[in-house]
Amino acid sequence: MNPPLREPAVLPPIDAVGAVRPRRLRVVLWVALVVLLLAAQTLLVALAFHYHSARTQEEVEANAAAASAELAQLFAKDLQAMLAMPGRDAPAGQWRTRAEQLLVARPELLRFERRDAALAILDAVDTRARPPLFTQLRRDQMQLETELACSATQRRGGPTYSRSYFVPRADGMGMEVMDLCVAERDGDRVVGFVVASYSLPGLLDQLSAQAQAPGHDLSFVEADGARLAHGRTHVGAGVYKASRVIDLPGTTMQLRVDSAATRPSLVPDLDTGLVIGLSLTLFGVVVLLARDVRKRTRVEGALADALAFRKAMEDSVVTGLRARDLQGRTTYVNPVFCAMVGYAADELVDRDPPPYWPPEQLPEYQRRQQRRLASAPTALSRDAFETTFVRKNGERFPAMVFEAPLLDSAAQHTGWMSAVLDLSAQRRVEEVARQQQERLQATARLATAGEMASLLSHELNQPLSAIAAYATGSLNMMDAHARGEAPDPDLWPMLHQAARRIAEQAERAGRVIKSVHDFVRRREHAREAIGGDALIEAILPLVRLQARKSDTRVELDLPTPMARVFCDRAMVEQVLLNLTRNGIQAMQGAPRDGEPVLTLRVRQTHPQWVRISISDRGPGIADEVARQLFTPFFTTRSDGMGLGLSVCRTIVEQHGGALDFANLRDAQGAVLGAEFRFTLPAIASEPRTAREQAAAVAVTP
Ligand code: ADP
Repeated sequence: MNPPLREPAVLPPIDAVGAVRPRRLRVVLWVALVVLLLAAQTLLVALAFHYHSARTQEEVEANAAAASAELAQLFAKDLQAMLAMPGRDAPAGQWRTRAEQLLVARPELLRFERRDAALAILDAVDTRARPPLFTQLRRDQMQLETELACSATQRRGGPTYSRSYFVPRADGMGMEVMDLCVAERDGDRVVGFVVASYSLPGLLDQLSAQAQAPGHDLSFVEADGARLAHGRTHVGAGVYKASRVIDLPGTTMQLRVDSAATRPSLVPDLDTGLVIGLSLTLFGVVVLLARDVRKRTRVEGALADALAFRKAMEDSVVTGLRARDLQGRTTYVNPVFCAMVGYAADELVDRDPPPYWPPEQLPEYQRRQQRRLASAPTALSRDAFETTFVRKNGERFPAMVFEAPLLDSAAQHTGWMSAVLDLSAQRRVEEVARQQQERLQATARLATAGEMASLLSHELNQPLSAIAAYATGSLNMMDAHARGEAPDPDLWPMLHQAARRIAEQAERAGRVIKSVHDFVRRREHAREAIGGDALIEAILPLVRLQARKSDTRVELDLPTPMARVFCDRAMVEQVLLNLTRNGIQAMQGAPRDGEPVLTLRVRQTHPQWVRISISDRGPGIADEVARQLFTPFFTTRSDGMGLGLSVCRTIVEQHGGALDFANLRDAQGAVLGAEFRFTLPAIASEPRTAREQAAAVAVTP
């Protein structure tokens, strides 16, 4: 029976256990997500660092390889140049000239020496680009490495490089120097040596720009890492280093390349910065997402509450609810409506026409629906109407439908919402009440009729006696005529007159009986438009019956034109009869000075209301009586039933009017009598003139 309202496809869990489990799961998922993100970001940064370091290291290695290759080339060229130097047999001075040229062409070379086989210096040329090498210390004091190299040359039979050694300089700085010793031979015999002294810093400076990559520091180091000589640039940061061993005949050198690059730091590095920036953005997005999810969760919670609230409301309301779209198709029904019409929700939704419309009234209902759908959906366009629906079992029942436009969250008109009340129970109660009321009224009528029985006997006595007298007289005349005792020529006219009198009296008696009969007999309860005078005239014979007995004068005060009312004639006549009877009885019980007069007055006091009043000249109504006047069975009369006034008030109120009373007083405040008046709904009539209002007709019984 659940309503098929279009609801979100996924509903949040409503029960407590169900709500806790997903919440815990959600927390775990979020923690996992944050941990994963942190791990991924850290890894990313670490990888970025590693990549950066590896690239820098590769660069350094490449530089070292390039520098060592270039160095090897340099040595090879120098060696070639030395081997091509003029020999001993060349003209004197030629060697020296060549040596000078070479020193100019090759700045890494500081000095050439020409020695004899015993290593004694024969000739020496120093470069002009620098101060002479051996000024601080004499050459013979620092030639141990040279001598070792030359003896190795002699032994090995090829050019040999010495180990490097430090030569102090005049500027106090000194320089690391290495010698290359090439033997001069005469056949197999070594006749002398040519020694070239290299400046190790000069060597480094001579490496081409390609090998001397900017941002890198070149140096020669010893095996233990102690630096021997340094290139021109001193930028090495000592982080990314690469070494190349340069094997030379007689010695081994270690070339070291040191990059100026430091360890990647978090801030200045662009790619690291990018990665970190992206990570931070990602975190920001995750935080925003988390907040959004939290907000959604809250909204979902509120929605679940609203749904639960709505469901509870739907289950508790006693009103049938039905929603229709703009095409008139049912989109929603609540359980109460389903129970009311006896159909399941899916038998009602999307059905047009709905199955609970009586088939014989289909065209009329369709027209009504068309009118409704065509009307503009203003906030005030609510509608209430009574209708008849059919239950699934075929039973028809009256229903009250309250309809209002259905607006969605964007205030768009999407259809109509109706609240439907099953009126059948109410109708049953009303019917029972009506029947009870009717019975009560019938009882009251019968009571009145009982009272009238005595009046009737008195009233009928006269015509019946007259009839009897006329009949007896006629019989006597006919008997005398038959016997021929007194033939009368006027017999026939007399008999004719007697018969007419009998007929008149019988008619009079008949009228009396009919007026009582008319009143007592149950009549159809139907409201009709009727003139106030017609109502009064209908009860007048009965009123007069009672009035005549107590010598009461009945006065009528009727306006011209007569106001018309919309009422149940039989019921209002009963009211009039009760009130006139009460008035007459009041005047009998406590006769006042002057003759008893009962006045019936009709006035249109308001365009929608007509007032009928009955005033007497009785003792009026005492305060203690007034308090209980309309209580059923309250009476001050020994033979009264105490129902008259309560029935009168019920009848008047059923017509939408009011019944009240007042004591009439003279100028001194003395009570003149009582006036009972009641209002009835008026039928629109021409407005009356003042003259017409003043018109009053006095009628005596
Ligand atoms: P019943 O006539 O059977 O007593 P009613 O309900 O008609 O029952 O009247 C209740 C009481 O109201 C009467 O017994 C009487 O005391 C008082 N009463 C009604 N009409 C009048 C009147 N016109 N003047 C004085 N008293 C009245």
